Amino acid sequence: MTRSSILFSEAKQVIPGGVNSPVRACASVGAAPLFIASAQGGTIHSVDGEVYVDFVQSWGPMLLGHNHPAVNKALHAAIERGTSYGAPCEDEILLAKAVVEAVPSLAMVRMVNSGTEATMSALRLARACTGRNKVLKFEGCYHGHGDPFLASAGSGVATLSIPGTPGVPASVVADTLLCPYNDAAAARALFTAQGKDIAAVIVEPAAGNMGLVPPAPGFLEALRELCDSYGALLIFDEVITGFRASYGGAQARYGVMPDLTTLGKIIGGGLPVGAFGGKEEYMRRVAPEGDVYQAGTLSGNPLAMAAGIATLEVLRGSDYALLEARVERLCQELEACFASKGIAVYITRLASMFTVFFSEGPVRNFEEAKKADAERYARYFRHMRDKGYFLAPSAFETSMASFAHTDADFAGFVTAVEAFTG
Ligand SMILES: *Cc1c(COP(=O)(O)O)cnc(C)c1O
Repeated sequence: MTRSSILFSEAKQVIPGGVNSPVRACASVGAAPLFIASAQGGTIHSVDGEVYVDFVQSWGPMLLGHNHPAVNKALHAAIERGTSYGAPCEDEILLAKAVVEAVPSLAMVRMVNSGTEATMSALRLARACTGRNKVLKFEGCYHGHGDPFLASAGSGVATLSIPGTPGVPASVVADTLLCPYNDAAAARALFTAQGKDIAAVIVEPAAGNMGLVPPAPGFLEALRELCDSYGALLIFDEVITGFRASYGGAQARYGVMPDLTTLGKIIGGGLPVGAFGGKEEYMRRVAPEGDVYQAGTLSGNPLAMAAGIATLEVLRGSDYALLEARVERLCQELEACFASKGIAVYITRLASMFTVFFSEGPVRNFEEAKKADAERYARYFRHMRDKGYFLAPSAFETSMASFAHTDADFAGFVTAVEAFTG
């Protein structure tokens, strides 16, 4: 019995499924979760004393790696000043400024506590600003677990094959329109039929929750144009891509500007944070300046702000191109390695993210992502974990590299895959 397995049994008695977020249970890859004792740089350390090179990075937040000294120092200093005030503090302005300066379409931003809160609030604001109810989302995109988004969602919903979920009234998702990702023609057809009722299009500008699926050329531009012609708001959910696709997010990388943006993960530097922001004309509708209610007891929490500020400060001086080049090289080596074994793969890649789909064909949407061999992915996950590499415990997630990963970590990845028999 490992200590992880003992803790897992204990956890299952008091926590549903033993975990506080479903995919962590590793059920879809036929494994038991590792309980983590600590994490450092590019590695996580289990309670059994094993060290794993971590390509999950807390599902995105840890772009600098774990326990980064600058973030750690900022947190230590902040904790001495108290952990929550319920009144404004200066660090809220500093993080808001850093975010607004980095993300091109943002003029103002409101801090919340998770990506889920950010997308719920952004949709409420879009509905208020347009006086319409419908929202268009794309199959396989995940926007947190808010009711209106739990129709054909990615991430854990996809992994566990939950058809939406019980508990969400049909009337709530009745206003959610669905389209295949990367299918501008399908989006156009929906607008032609119901455009005057559509408040917003919400999209991951590069999808990261059905595995990584980058946008096809022209897709984001087409959404921008549809929203403009029909008076709907375009929401980019950059909870993963913000500060990862580039320092200014996917919008800076692709040059397409949304009306509203949601953020999370990286901007909290490993603490619970989310944010939504956009053009002034919309953000000034948010309470107390405007009439659209949105609030949070711990929003703008001083610890989270301190970690976020320190994280963005280090990221501003980080060499994104170098990390991307390392990931590109890794993916090329993986392609060659799988080819030499006769294992069909389609590898997607963007900045520090990549996904190995065990699939012949290209993966441009959720349908195609689901055609990949999930059982082979499960064997791959278990093999890599045996070799000391911790990957996302689901075929529908993206691997995340960090600035803390060394050349040896990348080289070791390929060596580990060389021993994979399929
Ligand atoms: C993780 C994620 C969310 C939800 O964020 P939480 O902090 O888990 O609530 C929303 N959108 C996207 C694109 C995400 O990847």
